[in-house]
Amino acid sequence: MAKILDLKMNKITWDDFISLLSNELRTNCSDCQKANFKGWESFTKEMESKLQILGEFENSETCISKNGYNEYHPNGTNYWSKDAPIALAFYPYHESQVRTCSACNAVFLTYAEYSGHAPQNRCRWVQPELLVLIEDL
Ligand SMILES: [Zn+2]
Repeated sequence: MAKILDLKMNKITWDDFISLLSNELRTNCSDCQKANFKGWESFTKEMESKLQILGEFENSETCISKNGYNEYHPNGTNYWSKDAPIALAFYPYHESQVRTCSACNAVFLTYAEYSGHAPQNRCRWVQPELLVLIEDL
């Protein structure tokens, strides 16, 4: 599928995002290999070529100013945990871009990580059961 490169970044509401999640074919996918992206992983050029960019969260700026670099881990998970909550109001989800796999419609979040090293692009598959939609702790 051709990529649309010259469009302004679309704004996606949390409701839009939830609808997107319901489009996913819940099968293995050899295109995106989502099973390898249960936690944050390196977002390679090859992976980028498999995904279509949809936009960024509409309330992104509000959540970034409210929660900054705070992460949300009420149950002892950490940044790298494959079962860490996908808390859209918190770092780094609130600054992520939304992408989908053209083959299976799986939804991914991607962002650039800058802390203490050269920028690294990271990517995580969104598993609906991990989604958290609260804005505050
Ligand atoms: Zn896929």
